[in-house]
Amino acid sequence: MKVLVAVKRVVDYNVKVRPKSDGSGVDLANVKMSINPFCEIAVEEAVRLKEKGVATEVIAVSLGEKACQEQIRTALALGADRGIQVETSEELQPLAVAKLLKAIVEKESPDLVILGKQAIDGDNNQTGQMLAALTGMAQGTFASEVVIEDGKANVTREIDGGLQTVALNLPAVVTTDLRLNEPRYASLPNIMKAKKKPLDVLTVEELGVDAAPRVKTLKVEPPAERQAGIKVETVAELVDKLKTEAKVI
Ligand code: AMP
Repeated sequence: MKVLVAVKRVVDYNVKVRPKSDGSGVDLANVKMSINPFCEIAVEEAVRLKEKGVATEVIAVSLGEKACQEQIRTALALGADRGIQVETSEELQPLAVAKLLKAIVEKESPDLVILGKQAIDGDNNQTGQMLAALTGMAQGTFASEVVIEDGKANVTREIDGGLQTVALNLPAVVTTDLRLNEPRYASLPNIMKAKKKPLDVLTVEELGVDAAPRVKTLKVEPPAERQAGIKVETVAELVDKLKTEAKVI
């Protein structure tokens, strides 16, 4: 079974992001970039499937500028077998990413495509769903457990009311939720080995995809500062303030 994993290069989750002074976007100058945490979970799941003997090959794919090869190498160090980068300096929105991933799916014919449920930069939570719709593949989003059995993927999904298990025919698209697994750290020998693993570079033109943005960012600004809270002495005072000041009761 072939598994394709989509990994996105994003601002590291520990970094407090700042908008650019002209409000045209997020300031990425000298900011630490990492693999999107949900994509790391996706890589871990694919590697575990390989270790169990269920998957035979794990391919990590990233779309973006040359720098995203760093995140592909991280995936290779975590256990993926080979990488594909789709080189572009254009801003890619979820629909464009889904169309490009569809083109790669057509080239590679994976049995399973694993993506993060969302990228922590745009928080879109769209790409996996769009890829499933464009390819006609079954989808299991927000997965907290994936079991491959009798040619099906049984995916337990985190939904508002609890958990839901769906049985998907393969090939299928799965998006990862936080509780799916705890990703391993890459060991130094594996980081060294990853440098020698194959990494193909493709272009958007080669894949014949219209990746033009459909949505325009008008302005990026920080959220309003929160006001400091106050302490009340008694329950009666709290109720009074909720009634007369906050006017919520
Ligand atoms: P989003 O819909 O933007 O929240 O992204 C959801 C998931 O789609 C991510 O966790 C990745 O698995 C995948 N994805 C989005 N953008 C890219 C990209 N530029 N390169 C590779 N994978 C991506």
